[in-house]
Formats: sequence, structure tokens, C-alpha cells
Amino acid sequence: MVVKHTLYIVATPIGHRDDLSTRAILTLNSVDKILAEDTRHSGNLLRHHGIDTPTISLHEHNELERVRSIVDWLENGQSLALISDAGTPLISDPGYRLVRACQQAGLKVSPIPGPSALLAALSVSGLPTDAFRFVGFPPAKSVARISWLTNLESDPNTLVMYESPHRLLALLEALSHVFGADREMTLARELTKQFETVLHGTVASVLEQVRLDTDQSRGELVLVVGGANKDQSNVEIELDALIKALMGDLPPKLVARCAANLLKVNKQAAYRRVLELKQAN
Ligand code: SAM
Repeated sequence: MVVKHTLYIVATPIGHRDDLSTRAILTLNSVDKILAEDTRHSGNLLRHHGIDTPTISLHEHNELERVRSIVDWLENGQSLALISDAGTPLISDPGYRLVRACQQAGLKVSPIPGPSALLAALSVSGLPTDAFRFVGFPPAKSVARISWLTNLESDPNTLVMYESPHRLLALLEALSHVFGADREMTLARELTKQFETVLHGTVASVLEQVRLDTDQSRGELVLVVGGANKDQSNVEIELDALIKALMGDLPPKLVARCAANLLKVNKQAAYRRVLELKQAN
């Protein structure tokens, strides 16, 4: 069922071992070799699912030197699977250089999609999901972290970030300082595992819960942070400009609907403004 000369990018569970898809199991069973970030760690999962395909280590420190021989194996007709310690490979995990090398060699790279902590966290965050920005891990040093957050502060999209437990408090304090204590956020912890917790509130309220209960900063964490609210005066200026641009070509109700959808403002308010501007013309 696997195709020769193909590298499969296989998502594995982020905690619960049964979150490995049927197709992932079939693929991992059928390829010639599995490239794993940590062969010992993945060995437990593979054994649990009765998979005994040989594993080869591929991690950030040996990826570059292994790429040539992996491309050779694929060119010689093997099929291979890449897995990481958890979730979807390449998402804050190794594999990017290998995938590019395969593309450049004209080899097929095929995804076997599945779990990813960022999507799992986003899906339970209660924050807008129509547009979001995944920003990976923040810098570890405090000055770099503040300047990284300052660059993100006015982004209107929902932000998703990973963080290690021992830096969580420092990140929440920096978030409160740069984004403001009132910004809405969700802290998703130990997803799909025994101590799964999802805390939702303002940055201040999540910070307080983490300060009061040290268990809240244990395990694996994803932070989902609400996007910046656009400044009201800017929205009004944009609304007027959009209405004026559309007014000549479209009927008032359609102008209001388009403007409301594009700028995420109330439809009736947009319609009232269309009528005001029409009268003033
Ligand atoms: N490739 C993975 C993915 O698709 O989610 C991410 C790998 S990254 C090196 C590991 C980070 O993902 C952790 O530090 C944590 O921020 C997040 N993570 C992984 N598993 C998680 C879980 N069960 N619950 C919450 N966050 C998790």
C-alpha cells in the first residue's frame, strides 16, 4: 500500500497513544524504514501498535549529514516514513531540510496527517480560529522575549505559541507587560493526557491561577492569545473608505454587508453609515 520512492510525513500522538490513525499504522508497518527523532521514545509507541519496522534516528543535530543517504535510499526505490517525538513532524520539529532535499531531487513527499498540539489547543481555545498565526517557541532570554512580543502585540490574528513549563511564568508576565493584563487567552496543558487542563480568561487571570497553583505550569503547554482589537477610530476610517469605494457600484444593503464582513463590524451600524454617507453626497 505504500509507494516506492516516497517519503511519508506521519503525524503521531501528542499524548494519547490511541490517537495514531489507521492509515498511519498501515504506513509505518509497510515502509522500509522509519526515521524517528528519538528511536527509543518512538519505540514505545511503535511496540504498542505492533509495528516492528526498523528505525533510524533523524534529529536536528544529524539531519543535515543524513539527508544525502536518505535521498539515496529513496532514489533506489525505498519508501520511508518520518516521525517526530509527538504530533506532526516539521512543526517545531526536524524534517524541513530533508523535505526540501527530496523536493529538489524530484521525489514524492506525502503527508499522513494527524495530531498537532497547535491545532488541538486552538480547537478548544474559544478564540477566533478563522485566521491565526503560529509563532513557535518564544526566545528564552528576557530582553529578546520582550522585543519578540512587541512585534506581535498589534497583530489582529489569534496567536498560538509553544512554551516549556519552566519559562511559562516569565512568558505570562511578559505577555501582561507587553499585551496588557486584559488580553484574552487560553492555556492548554497536557492535551489528550491524564492531567489535561484548559484555562481560559484574561492574561491576568491565567497568570494568577498559574502563580497560585504550580501544577498549572507542569507538563506540555500551548498558549493561545487573542489578537489585538483594532483601534476604533481606525475602523471608522476604514469603514468610510470602503463604503465610498463600493457605493457607486453596489446597492446600499450589499455595500453594508460587504463592509461589515470585511471589517468585522456590526451590519446595522455599517448600513446606517452607508445611508449617512449617501445623504451627505
Ligand atoms: N510537532 C509537535 C506538534 O505537532 O504539535 C510539536 C513539537 S514541539 C518540539 C513540542 C511542544 O509542543 C511542547 O513544548 C508543547 O509546547 C507542545 N505540545 C506537545 N504535546 C503537547 C500536549 N499534549 N499538550 C500541550 N502541548 C503540547
